[in-house]
Amino acid sequence: MKLSEFDIRYIKGVGPKKALLFYKLGIKNLYDLITYYPRDYFDRSNMVPLDFEEVNFGELLTVKGNVVKKNVRYLRRMKLFELYISDGSNTVTALFFNQPYLLNAFNLGDAVCVSGKLDYFNGRYQIIANYYEKIDADSQPDAILPIYSLTAGLNQKFFRRIMKQTLLAYLDDLSENIPENILKKYNFLGRKDAVKFIHFPNSRDDAQNAARRIAFEEFYLYELEVKRRIEKLKSEKNGFSFTEKSLDTKNYGNLFSFRLTGSQAEVVNEIKNDLISNRPMNRLLQGDVGSGKTAVAFYPLYAASLSGYVGVYLAPTEILALQTYKLFSEWSGMNGIEVELLTSSVTGKKRGELADKLRRGDPLILCGTHAVLQEKVDISNLAVIVIDEQHKFGVRHRAFLRKRFPRPHTLIMTATPIPRTLGLVLFADMDVSVLRDFPFGKKDIKTYVVGERDKAKMFTFVKNELRRGKQAYYIFPLIDESDKLELKSAVAEYEKLSETVFSEFGLGLIHGRMKMNEKESVMADFKAGKIDLVFATTVIEVGIDNKNANLIIIENADRFGLSQLHQIRGRIGRGGERGYCFLVAEPKNEIAKKRLDFMVKTNDGFEIAEADLFIRGPGDFLGARQSGLPKFKVADILRNSKLLELAKKEAGF
Ligand code: ADP
Ligand code: MG
Repeated sequence: MKLSEFDIRYIKGVGPKKALLFYKLGIKNLYDLITYYPRDYFDRSNMVPLDFEEVNFGELLTVKGNVVKKNVRYLRRMKLFELYISDGSNTVTALFFNQPYLLNAFNLGDAVCVSGKLDYFNGRYQIIANYYEKIDADSQPDAILPIYSLTAGLNQKFFRRIMKQTLLAYLDDLSENIPENILKKYNFLGRKDAVKFIHFPNSRDDAQNAARRIAFEEFYLYELEVKRRIEKLKSEKNGFSFTEKSLDTKNYGNLFSFRLTGSQAEVVNEIKNDLISNRPMNRLLQGDVGSGKTAVAFYPLYAASLSGYVGVYLAPTEILALQTYKLFSEWSGMNGIEVELLTSSVTGKKRGELADKLRRGDPLILCGTHAVLQEKVDISNLAVIVIDEQHKFGVRHRAFLRKRFPRPHTLIMTATPIPRTLGLVLFADMDVSVLRDFPFGKKDIKTYVVGERDKAKMFTFVKNELRRGKQAYYIFPLIDESDKLELKSAVAEYEKLSETVFSEFGLGLIHGRMKMNEKESVMADFKAGKIDLVFATTVIEVGIDNKNANLIIIENADRFGLSQLHQIRGRIGRGGERGYCFLVAEPKNEIAKKRLDFMVKTNDGFEIAEADLFIRGPGDFLGARQSGLPKFKVADILRNSKLLELAKKEAGF
């Protein structure tokens, strides 16, 4: 029988009503059920006596005793349920936060087990409880019990019973999904044993072995899937044939006032090979901020339009789209290539004309933002798409690309280096290019952490540099565009400082709430040197380029992620001259302090990304908007990175 065809509501003891609760957890059928793994275990083998002589504070432990007193109390705005447990000689209080309803779950005299962290308060031991279990006739005294993430209306005991009974009756119908030789080679449990033991282990070792096997299985199946995807991509043809002239890399190099670096030339060549291969390019370009990705990105777009197609460049912000539009127009000038801009600010007649052109598929390079991805924008002859700063972008473009046939050549770029392990999963099906060197050699940026007390000194330094004709950024964190308070602080500081500390200089202000043409004119004035110091929220984080700016002050630096700080800092030091970065912060704890010190110590984007990933975990590191990470139930990309490498190897990479 196929487990996935057996609806959970037909299981004895579940029924149509309870089944709804299972559905809520994503459990529709028996297969879903037995692959619904515990989030933790209730391990009564780690039971400690209530004198706590051998125990350290903060340790996770389990105690057993009888309820002697219970009550609910208010602690500031929290409701606190207190359960007093005694073993006859000692009493301990178990604290449950915000679960006042537990008051009715216990009777005096009940035998209970409670797990949690040990704490000591007002001369008494207490346990910050995270789990409890009443002991009754059908409790198994020593078993390690699974704890599942459940929903109101389902309790652990019931869920365990259903799980156990299902495993007994149907586990045999579960088929193996890893080849025998691999199981042997790495000493993995068979699938049935693994599933049995992950739910009901006899020991911690059992549970660990089961988790290891299942983590591998998840990676392995994922990698097989990726492999299939790659093979499918490879078998796809795309009919865009590029003219020889358009691909000539020598001509291409001559478009610029500078010489391409070795890295740039190398990657241009890799892209050329993709374009002539007859298969859609699927390439990721990684390069630290300032490594010169734009001049590489232009190549396939230029080749496309010269060959009679449309090339699309996408930026995450309007301001970057505009800057790049100008740059591309400059680079295209002599070749008569048309460059167009499409953002949400392009409206009316202009937009209508552009829409017509795109529908006809006139050869051109289109620079734009998310606006380009809209359903109603109809583009013919789309041969190349380049996505800049893709970590800022989200996954929307993927759907857009999936729908297109023939699939355009795709180049995505990121300045947040993807740590290796994450890359294995996230960009498993892409070819990867890396820009290793910088146009002006390694960047020379000195970074300082500045407390409130030292700000005056910092201002003096900055003023001296500005008097020398240098320019500076003053950045305020705006994590969320709708964050009004933060916005106010950028505006307020700008107003205050323009009348005091920086009164002698030309100041500008730029933030996400401004209209496009307002932002545009501020950036233009800054580039032209009419503005010495530009106050900005993080809208300038990506891609903005002004070689003469060599100073940057970042307020509340402790509120940014490390990679983001590195990105922001990357605005300076672009002209080859030494840059100065001031991280203004009063770090509140050791970790915050260490993080900032790390920024002082290193300028290497890869090192920083690696550290950032470990501090924040993959989800936060990638940002909520776009994790694009596959959802594994047991496998953890960071903790199980070795298994991931194995899985990749065994899947035939
Ligand atoms: P990023 O990789 O951060 O997108 P950019 O493409 O914006 O970097 O390039 C950073 C700066 O370096 C720009 O001012 C660009 O004009 C300049 N640049 C790029 N390539 C070279 C080169 N080969 N020689 C000199 N300057 C270059
Ligand atoms: Mg860039």
